[in-house]
Amino acid sequence: MGILSSFFKTKNNENKFADLHIHTSFSDGLLTPEQVVTKAKENGLAVVAIVDHDAVAGIKPAIQSGKKLGVEIIPAVELSCIVGDNDIHIIGYCLDYKNNKLINTLNDIQNKRVERAKKIVEKLTEQGAEVEIERVLELAGNGAVGRPHIAQALLEEGHISSYDEAFWKYIGYHCPAYVPKEKLTPKDVIKLIRNFHGQAILAHPMSYNNRSTISYLIEQGIQGLEVWRPDHSENEVKYLSNLVKMNNLLATGGTDCHGGRKGKILIGEIKVPYQYVTALKHAR
Ligand code: AMP
Ligand code: FE
Ligand code: FE
Ligand code: ZN
Repeated sequence: MGILSSFFKTKNNENKFADLHIHTSFSDGLLTPEQVVTKAKENGLAVVAIVDHDAVAGIKPAIQSGKKLGVEIIPAVELSCIVGDNDIHIIGYCLDYKNNKLINTLNDIQNKRVERAKKIVEKLTEQGAEVEIERVLELAGNGAVGRPHIAQALLEEGHISSYDEAFWKYIGYHCPAYVPKEKLTPKDVIKLIRNFHGQAILAHPMSYNNRSTISYLIEQGIQGLEVWRPDHSENEVKYLSNLVKMNNLLATGGTDCHGGRKGKILIGEIKVPYQYVTALKHAR
């Protein structure tokens, strides 16, 4: 390929790629927004979506780093809701992350997370796995506190020998120290995202109990599905791509990187072609 044609391709976004699901230290990720953007650049990405649980505070610092390094930042947030037994995660992309009403709503949700963390810690004490709530909140820093911070505190105290063990032994669903989050419905969450002009996309669609959950969420107004993920098989990608086509939905993808909390820094292992970013940005 000659210099001119490669320039032309860049101009047309044809060789630009995105990872549309990355957590930062503003929720349960281990990397700061600046570190995420630096890693993204190193790993050949032109675009990253900053996706924290119930928090948008990582977006501004990411944009500042992105400007320096030439990485486009897609603002986003990952919200939780309940369907039956399932903790469903919905990502709001391209929403008005600077809106004060949105920030206040997220602050309320984050405060409820603190109350929940206290309850989980009490239950852990009953189980003989004591951790200090102060330490858990310290690990969360200025971000939304979640079970991964509790898992980290359990590890530090030597109550478990791996991060995953925390979830199957103590704090995972159906485990003795499990406490559910605030009970929003998918409709509430989709409405919240739409009110702030975002696109509501179903995160990790294959992680829920059964496939009818996906159809239910499409009925509830989900606008797209996370199709490409490191934990999706080829068949799952085919299945989800087909659902996207049949229901005229948006398709996204990303690594759901938590900065190596689950082993490895995944940023860039999923490379979504820029055309899907364009579709996401222009959807209304
Ligand atoms: P929370 O939002 O506090 O309920 O915590 C949910 C987060 O915990 C998810 O986003 C994952 O980062 C992590 N998580 C949930 N279940 C597991 C699991 N079984 N193994 C490892 N990490 C998990
Ligand atoms: Fe998480
Ligand atoms: Fe999630
Ligand atoms: Zn996530």
